[in-house]
Amino acid sequence: MTRPRSAPMPTSLRANRPAPHPARTVRCPHCGAAEGTRCTTRSGRITKTSPCPARRAAHAIATAVCPTCQTAPGTPCRGIDGTETAVHQQRYTEAEGDAA
Ligand SMILES: [Zn+2]
Ligand SMILES: [Zn+2]
Repeated sequence: MTRPRSAPMPTSLRANRPAPHPARTVRCPHCGAAEGTRCTTRSGRITKTSPCPARRAAHAIATAVCPTCQTAPGTPCRGIDGTETAVHQQRYTEAEGDAA
């Protein structure tokens, strides 16, 4: 099975304004940051530039079909023995794009 790879985004386009991290479209299950807002530290005072790992996982699970284990959006990744496992790296790529 082949699929066309899109050309890399020109660096001139991404340099001036960094896009919000795609995981910000979901609520963070770790620090409780609402949709569209940045993650914070556990104290809630310092805003982090990158989302909590748990938020990236929640976003990938909610939005992407996993290329590795073929689970549908909303379903956790599964290992070869059928039990739930950590989100596969390729699912992050699928959900967030190659920039991640
Ligand atoms: Zn968070
Ligand atoms: Zn998977």
